[in-house]
Amino acid sequence: RELVSADVQGDERLIEAALRPKRLAEFIGQPRVREQLSLVLEGALRRNRPPDHVLMSGPPGLGKTTLAMIIAAELGAPLRVTSGPALERAGDLAAILSTLTDGEVLFIDEIHRMARPAEEMLYLAMEDFRVDIVVGKGPGATAIPLEVAPFTLVGATTRAGLLPAPLRDRFGFTAHMEFYDEAELETVLHRSARLLGVDLPVEGAAEIAGRSRGTPRIANRLLRRVRDFAEVRADGLITREIAAAALNLYEVDAEGLDRLDRAVLGALLRKFGGGPVGLSTLAVAVGEEPETVEVVAEPFLVRQGLLARTPRGRVATAAAWVHLGLVPPPDAFG
Ligand code: ADP
Repeated sequence: RELVSADVQGDERLIEAALRPKRLAEFIGQPRVREQLSLVLEGALRRNRPPDHVLMSGPPGLGKTTLAMIIAAELGAPLRVTSGPALERAGDLAAILSTLTDGEVLFIDEIHRMARPAEEMLYLAMEDFRVDIVVGKGPGATAIPLEVAPFTLVGATTRAGLLPAPLRDRFGFTAHMEFYDEAELETVLHRSARLLGVDLPVEGAAEIAGRSRGTPRIANRLLRRVRDFAEVRADGLITREIAAAALNLYEVDAEGLDRLDRAVLGALLRKFGGGPVGLSTLAVAVGEEPETVEVVAEPFLVRQGLLARTPRGRVATAAAWVHLGLVPPPDAFG
């Protein structure tokens, strides 16, 4: 597994849970989302009604699950967690909806991957707090209406563009999560270091933050790798040099690009002369799924000004050639 990939497995789940901020006031960064959300929650608490449904969109590891948990905590409501891929049939969703309690928060991660029949059931539940359970088949089939307790749906997606409009329109509020800046990541790192009992000097934190791809999940992961390195190869002190040496070892470069990022950029430059090239062609060239390239690598490359998405395909910027130490063809930017 790539050190900077977005997915989480095994023990990391436990560590992530331990590092999650529990309340909105503890949540670092995303000032706009925090302010918007605190108004939505405050209003709901005053009216003593569940708040509007909330959609959170943005790349993996930016805190969407954490915020869903915080929403429930701030409302003092129970939380039910599921994900789009787990909702293959309408019945999967009906089983959850029919057992929700008043005011419960239902979190659906990767909501863009829900099956269509479940999605259609969700529209009705979001709007009218009701579902129609279809029993029987063919002409004898009947729909039995079933009431659902008033609940708040929190959906998370890495690809808001894939959500059908009727679903998107039923959310009262969409939180667009942005990459974190280095100062925010340093704050995340100091907080995590405190919780993990790691001594983290300011310079070490700065070095790790600069290579964390704007992503708290990656910052926390790099912190653990750097700690190991400092303990095994040095006297445990995380200096800037130690942090840099550790991260070089794990192939995270000074700008935070990992192996996948560099593979995508490298293919774009070496195989396609800087583009434009279509997403799927580019994905084949690096041996990855188009979705991985699009969701994991590209948003960060775009934000770093290394890659641009144009109507004709993906294009490398002048900075990309510089970053990989290559010389663009003479007509590249003419
Ligand atoms: P997502 O659901 O967007 O993939 P998560 O909510 O699972 O991301 O966050 C991944 C990890 O990053 C969490 O375990 C948490 O420790 C950390 N994290 C995310 N956002 C923040 C934040 N704003 N402040 C502190 N830690 C954060």
